[in-house]
Amino acid sequence: MKSLTGLHHVTAIAGPAQENLDFYAGILGMRLVKKSVNQDDPGTYHLFYADAAGHPGTDLTFFPWSHMAPSRLGHGLATEVQLTVPLGSLDFWGERLARYGVTVGAVETRFGDRVLPLADPHGLQVALVEAAEVTTRGFEPWTQSPVPVARQIRGLHGARTWQRDRAASGWFLTSVLGFTEQRTEHDWTRYVLGEGGPGRVLDVRETPDAHRGAWGTGSIHHLAWRVDDEAHELEVRSAIETIGLRPTPVIDRFWFKSVYFKEPGGVLFELATDGPGFAVDEEAAHLGESLVLPPWLESQRAAIERGVPALTYPPVVEPSGSPSASEIR
Ligand code: ZN
Repeated sequence: MKSLTGLHHVTAIAGPAQENLDFYAGILGMRLVKKSVNQDDPGTYHLFYADAAGHPGTDLTFFPWSHMAPSRLGHGLATEVQLTVPLGSLDFWGERLARYGVTVGAVETRFGDRVLPLADPHGLQVALVEAAEVTTRGFEPWTQSPVPVARQIRGLHGARTWQRDRAASGWFLTSVLGFTEQRTEHDWTRYVLGEGGPGRVLDVRETPDAHRGAWGTGSIHHLAWRVDDEAHELEVRSAIETIGLRPTPVIDRFWFKSVYFKEPGGVLFELATDGPGFAVDEEAAHLGESLVLPPWLESQRAAIERGVPALTYPPVVEPSGSPSASEIR
């Protein structure tokens, strides 16, 4: 079986939608490439941030479920999403994030890469990872981003998960999904697809004494992995079913086709096809500007539009970490 080819998208749970948009588009400078609703809960937005073209592997998406309690850290959850930034750009990012009052940690070295951990406004753990450009996924710069092209986020880098039993999840990753166990550093074991690098890493920590984690605002909902097409997806789905897990049937998400399943430790995974992509229902130049609904929800458009808050895009965000005029006086 051909292995997965990398991360396709990561979906997380946010608080209020405008705050989420302000942070990811206004401060991190990603492009809102699709504004839709949760297909299983059409009273809530589903916001997609990516490179300018919405290439598979660049996409971080959110369900703004502000009524939810904050997430509970624990095993069986993906606990951090990592985004690739160009080599030498972390000083820029550290300074920019401080200026906007974002909570950032100290720069760390992980598996040889320089990493800047931070928390988004709703507590999601995000890490910016410096890495060289790769050819395993496309990247198109967003010329209207507030972040200069040379510093822009290149796409998803990887994710961290906590597992009660690393061996069970590790066996599944390597024997069924085609990962390779690379090495362990501190408490983290790195699994890679292909040669590893941007978009192809998953770091697993065994936390036998932790509670079971719980979804809430600030948690990752699922990790979606790339498959070439529906034939590849069905092949991987069959391998997952053969070992006794229960993948869903193929679900048409319109921009890609999806299969969902929980890996042995309980983390929700998805398989998602590379195509047809976000330009299937909007012109590439106008991605994300209007509320897009899949065809089967179009008849409910008026009610859906009344049920979600209006959003300002592009967002207007002001630096907050620099001294105000009154402080200068
Ligand atoms: Zn998904």
